[in-house]
Amino acid sequence: MKQHDERTIRFAKLGPDGELEPPFPMDPVKLTESTRKIVCKVVDGIHLRKYTRFYAVGVYGGIATAYSVGCNYRCTFCWVDWSRDWPEIHGSFYSPSQVYSNLREIMRVQNLKRARVSGAEPTLCPEHICDILELVHQDADLFDLFVIETNGVVIGTEENLASRLAQYASRDADTVGHVRLSIRGGLPDPFMNKTGCCPEFLNLPFIAAQYLWDAGASFHVAVVVDPRFTSEEEKATIYERLNDIHSSVRRGVEEEFLDPYPHALVRLRAVGREDVTGREMNNKELYARRRMPKDE
Ligand code: SF4
Repeated sequence: MKQHDERTIRFAKLGPDGELEPPFPMDPVKLTESTRKIVCKVVDGIHLRKYTRFYAVGVYGGIATAYSVGCNYRCTFCWVDWSRDWPEIHGSFYSPSQVYSNLREIMRVQNLKRARVSGAEPTLCPEHICDILELVHQDADLFDLFVIETNGVVIGTEENLASRLAQYASRDADTVGHVRLSIRGGLPDPFMNKTGCCPEFLNLPFIAAQYLWDAGASFHVAVVVDPRFTSEEEKATIYERLNDIHSSVRRGVEEEFLDPYPHALVRLRAVGREDVTGREMNNKELYARRRMPKDE
């Protein structure tokens, strides 16, 4: 039988007994370490990261986007393509200045003042993301917003990262950075079922929110409140914990409802969520399924 290690954690599946099949539930801190070995590297002292593409989208009123490779969660509703699950065969390495130049070029052509690093988990390579933020900071007049989208695992485990991000994303100083922190769950079992993580890691995003608050960072929290994934009880628990950090953190929540993107449909069907996918596969799901890489 194929042995799983953190390098081969793809997406969660339910076994015949209705339980998650190994290697799930998994340890997101170990997955951070193993994914870093694939998507981050240092060449001649420059911190490189894998990306698949650079483009502009309409969210945030129009924003240039760098689509990074690799995440330390395995959300069942994740819309990211297969680069999340097979990071070793997707993307190319870019230096911070290459990422910056690509984003600036998109901004110039599309007449935008906003940019972000998104796609997977941008904080997996902290030196790389901080180097990009430094370049943005040096040219701050060209931006009115630079967004880092994160699930908070790295910020919650590596305490000084929140302070480093706050240098570029400050609540008080004149900076253009902003952190969008996603909190996926507030109760152990739903957290595990949504993210694929062991329940004991439930607290990390809340710790990240506390660190960001304490560091004076400009941030807000996004919560999946879609009732197909989050009960009223769980939502109330999340909001109470955010309110304990500060009432403004609770008040600033962005409520997320989920669209059934192609790769999400495959992942959701694998954990038996036909209530969301429907019984029949539509063309979007078939397309994503055909493009799924095969393990040996
Ligand atoms: S944190 Fe975001 S990118 Fe990572 S698995 Fe969840 S939805 Fe996908």
